[in-house]
Parts: sequence; C-alpha cells; structure tokens
Amino acid sequence: MGIRTGRQYLDKLNAMTPHVVIDGEVVSEKIAEHPAFRNVARSYAKLFDMQHDPAHQEALTYPSPSTGDLVNASFLVPRTVEDLQRRRRAISTWAEFSNGFLGRSGDYMNSSLTALSTAQKWFAQADPKFGENIRNYYEWARENDVLATHTLIPPQVNRSVSGSEQMGGQLTAHIVEEREDGIVVSGARMLATIAPIADELLVFPSTVLRGTPEDAPYSFAFAIPNDVPGLRYLCRTSLYNGGSTHDEPLASRYEEMDAVAIFDNVFVPSERIFMLGNPQLCNAFYTETGAGALMTHQVVTRTIAKSEFFLGLASELADSIGIDGFQHIQEDIAELIIDVEIGKALVRASEADAQLNEAGMMLPKWSTLNAARNWYPKIAQRFPQIIRKFSASGLMALPGEADVNSEAKADIDTYLQGKTLTGPERVRLFKLAFDASISGFSGRQSLYEYFFFGDPVRMAGALVNTYDREPVRARVREFLNRQE
Ligand SMILES: Cc1cc2nc3c(=O)[nH]c(=O)nc-3n(C[C@H](O)[C@H](O)[C@H](O)COP(=O)(O)OP(=O)(O)OC[C@H]3O[C@@H](n4cnc5c(N)ncnc54)[C@H](O)[C@@H]3O)c2cc1C
Repeated sequence: MGIRTGRQYLDKLNAMTPHVVIDGEVVSEKIAEHPAFRNVARSYAKLFDMQHDPAHQEALTYPSPSTGDLVNASFLVPRTVEDLQRRRRAISTWAEFSNGFLGRSGDYMNSSLTALSTAQKWFAQADPKFGENIRNYYEWARENDVLATHTLIPPQVNRSVSGSEQMGGQLTAHIVEEREDGIVVSGARMLATIAPIADELLVFPSTVLRGTPEDAPYSFAFAIPNDVPGLRYLCRTSLYNGGSTHDEPLASRYEEMDAVAIFDNVFVPSERIFMLGNPQLCNAFYTETGAGALMTHQVVTRTIAKSEFFLGLASELADSIGIDGFQHIQEDIAELIIDVEIGKALVRASEADAQLNEAGMMLPKWSTLNAARNWYPKIAQRFPQIIRKFSASGLMALPGEADVNSEAKADIDTYLQGKTLTGPERVRLFKLAFDASISGFSGRQSLYEYFFFGDPVRMAGALVNTYDREPVRARVREFLNRQE
C-alpha cells in the first residue's frame, strides 16, 4: 500500500473503537470528529496528503525496498551520509509545514522503528525472535504508513522511589501474566502525546530501570493498536478553546492531546513483543540500537523549524510597532538568529561526523546530538519570553476576529494599527504572538520542549557521566606539569 492520504488516515481513525476519556465523556467512535481532536487530526491528515503532493513527494518519500510502492522517507535506513541528509530533507519538509509545532509527526516514531529494525544482533542477546518481531513490525508500519506514539515513564506518584516500588509494584504498567501466545499487562504509564489520534501505541522501556531481577516485570517493549481491549486513555482538558484560525492560529491547528495510558489486563500477542524481562537491555534500548540517535536527528531538525518560526515572528512584531531599532530588541533577535544557526550547525555536524554502526547503519554523531538535545530544552524557554517582551500590552489590547468584522472595526483601524500594518493585520499578528507566548497552548509547548527527552537535570547528569572528558583533563594535567 505505501503512503496513505489524509482521507485514508481520518477514515481509519473514525473506524477505530478506542476508550478515550475527556472531560467526563468516553469517546469510542468517530474520534476524528470530536471537537478536541478534529482540527489536529486534520493537520495530521495534511501531512499525509503532502506525501502525494508533487511539490513535496520527492522530498517526503522513497520506493519501498520490498514492494516498490512509495513510503515515507523517515523509514529509509541510512547507509550513507547522503541518506541522512535525505532523511533530514523529508523531516524538515513536514516540520516547516507546522513550524515545528507538531511534535509527534509520524517521522519521530518512524525514526525509532527504523533504527530498531536494523538491530537484529542486539535483540538476539535476549532472543532472536525479538529482532524478527521488530523487523516485521517496522516493515508493516512502513508499508501501511502507520502513525504511532509512545509511552515510557511510570506515573508520577512518588518519585523518591522507583516506579516498580509504588503500591507494591501494582501501579506502573507491568506484566501480570505470561502466556504461550503473549503477555497480559496492567497498570499505567504517565503520558502518551497524540494517543487519541494515533493508530498505534509503542510501550517502550521505561527510562532507567534498576537493572535488578525485581524490575523484570516492568521491562518490556511492545506495540498495540490504540483500540485494543483494556487500553484506556485519560486525556487532559483541551487547550484549544474553539476559536477560529484567526483567534487561535496555533491551538486551532496543532493542539496535540496528551493522555495517561491505562492498561487493564491488556493482551499483547507474542509477535508484537520486542523485549521482555531484561532490565539491562531495556536500559540500553535507545543507545545501543541507534534509535536514540535517529530520533534525536528528527527532533533537532524539527526544532530548527520552530526556532526559525520564532525568529520570524519576533522580527515581524518588532517591525510592526517600530521597536526594531532598539538595541535590546536587536540583542534578542540576535539571540534567536544564533539559536537557529547553532541548531543547523549541530544537525549538519552530526551528519558530517556520522559513522557506520555494527549493524551497517550510518549513525549521526551521538555526542553532537546529545549536546543539541541538552541545549534546546533550555533555549526554547526563551522564545515565548522574547515574544512577550516585544509585544507587551499589545498582547492584551487585542480584540478578536468577531470585533474586526463588526462596527468596532473603525476603532481597530484607527487605534490598533501598527507602524507598518493596518489595524486588522496587526490584530492578526498579535493573535499569533499571543498563541505562541501566553496562551495555554504556548504554555504546554514550553513544557513539552523542556521535558521532551526526559528531565533535563538528569539528562545533564547522564551527559556528564557518559562524555569522554579524559582527553581534555589530560591536557590540563600536561599543562600543569610543563616546566617552561
Ligand atoms: C507536554 C508533555 C508531553 C509528553 N509526552 C510524552 C509522551 O508522548 N510519551 C512519554 O513517554 N512521555 C511523555 N512526556 C513525559 C516526559 O517524558 C516527562 O515529562 C519527563 O521524562 C520528566 O518526567 P516527569 O514529568 O515524570 O517529571 P518527574 O520525574 O516527576 O520530575 C518532577 C521534578 O522533580 C525532579 N526530580 C524527579 N526525580 C528526580 C531525581 N531522581 N533527581 C533529581 N531531580 C528529580 C525533576 O527534575 C523535576 O523538576 C511528556 C511530557 C510533557 C510535559
């Protein structure tokens, strides 16, 4: 089959029968028509349609090695640096469409599955059938253009103990039964973004298990359809308030729902299990298979598009009200320019220094990507701050679309015009600034980017512990020992 159209994606979603709880309602049919999911599902549908658009098809697709049908380029196993660049071109084509605000476009999980599919030998350390299972699942996802999300961490009940120690080990998702034909799982995982509008849920290793035998029931990787019996999603309230694309330009298009994933005796058939009962291997799931590197390559590419969007928005705002000549405004714009250029440099450096791994996959340089993923969550917090600072009371002197189209228009024309924009144009621009800097949608975006790869504090610790600092320390010691 290969690439799907947006219509095919929406029809499949509407035919699914998940258990999605939102605002006191259980939604289990026609999910793509529910007000909380309708618009974002249509934004995702546009991504699918772009694959068929002659203007983007070449960038977004490649012929499947098994069928010759066109499939998404994020499934391409990189064997050369050119393949990595090819992947980046596809990723940035989608990212530029949403300006990086769709954080769970399919290419994110596709990147993970692509790397995992090559790691047969690594999976064979536990059982060769796991390697075969992930390879088959990857091929199935590629040929059916599946949209997946993932859920990794245990519920946030008591972080001073491990997930497996909470409520006698009953709280976090765990294996309750091992059968001939599969496993049964109960408990919960903290969060799964876009769960209600995805086809599949990847329940992948919970970050940093203790590696002791007691953690075995919590150590697994598997995939399930989003409407499998016993799986419930508990959503937060939507951050889209029902406004028009004029009034809520970002939330009305890109509000990606987050949901708690609850497993109530969910059966997982053997062929969809990729790892079982092996905490040590689960802890190395992303690093040793190359999945972490390909996923981060996708994320850094997406976030470049987002940084560029904020640079563009800040520049438009500054111009519109004549503050672009002030030094501190220029200093902030310079900061955004530097962020864009650093992001681009990091992703390209990761490609330039890529190396083939044991499985013959061209792996972008991990230490470079690791620096990028530790850096971006922090600098991304500055973006809305800069937009707020530039816009000031312009974010409050801000009527809506209905006012622009009412008798108030005369006042808007007169009092809300900008230096370079008419009143209605300026209102439209500042609505975008509002949605990018102080709306509920923007607050979630900041939180999302901050915690994207996990807790930045512990990520920094992991960076320190894994980065080879010995050569630079040796240089300092050598310098201290110099006699002249
Ligand atoms: C918008 C959004 C979407 C998300 N989507 C997904 C998703 O699709 N799939 C998914 O799997 N996850 C998702 N996550 C979860 C994300 O992976 C976590 O937010 C991240 O791993 C941090 O975990 P936590 O939120 O449980 O924070 P916690 O671990 O509970 O941390 C809370 C605070 O306590 C501190 N803290 C806790 N433990 C320690 C410690 N041992 N040492 C030092 N400090 C500590 C942290 O620094 C932090 O300040 C999402 C999160 C957000 C915010």
